[in-house]
Amino acid sequence: MALNTPAGRLTTAIDVPTQLIPITAIVPVTRRLGDEAAQLEVQQAIEAGQTISCRIGCAACCRMLVPLSAPEAFALREYVEQLPTDRRTHLLSRLSDRKESLKRAGLWDRLNDVAEANRSVPDEELDPINQSYYALRIPCPYLEDEMCSIYESRPAACRELLVTSPAELCQDLAHNPVTPLPVSMRISSILGLVWGTLTSSPPRLIPLPMALEWAERHVEESRRTWSGSSLLDQVLDNMWRFLSQAFQRQ
Ligand code: SF4
Repeated sequence: MALNTPAGRLTTAIDVPTQLIPITAIVPVTRRLGDEAAQLEVQQAIEAGQTISCRIGCAACCRMLVPLSAPEAFALREYVEQLPTDRRTHLLSRLSDRKESLKRAGLWDRLNDVAEANRSVPDEELDPINQSYYALRIPCPYLEDEMCSIYESRPAACRELLVTSPAELCQDLAHNPVTPLPVSMRISSILGLVWGTLTSSPPRLIPLPMALEWAERHVEESRRTWSGSSLLDQVLDNMWRFLSQAFQRQ
């Protein structure tokens, strides 16, 4: 398949089952398309003389609140389920610590309201929550020794944040003039829109620290299946919508 993006033409092979599959089965290929589109943007920035400052071992942005779409939350649950017992126990204990910290700060219930909202939560409501969360500088529960412990399965929002400003500015993302690389497709939004259409619900944002709990509460929904080709069509339809908006902004 081929996709025209503002940063160039993306040509890639994709393999999607035609039989009935759960929504989680479409998450890896959707993220891969997002990664490949982001690579075009990185290449374009480098050709324009910019430098991508993000490096392995720099996790300054892993103190921000990461939003997940429902399909990604279900995929994360599946990923954690298949971890060896000792790693899973360790991770669940860290998640529990973060939950207690967020409860003490009075943020847990507010985050839960966002995750369970049966409407699109507007930016005016989300911004103060994001700011309060970032002010706590709580490391992401999936961060170990300043490295992402779920790197291959990390959420799309984490993959899409690359900066061209000096790395030291990322120590205070709230006050420093950080320059993110423009992204033409938001994969978590695309998966959220697909899920919203499939389940007749508003696009949902699930804060990462509570994504496993949310996915557990909604696990029955994750067992529904659709034909792989129809899921891929919906993903591509939403990608084209994002890309056409990106071309209009040029
Ligand atoms: S999931 Fe990984 S990349 Fe994303 S915020 Fe957490 S540690 Fe960082």
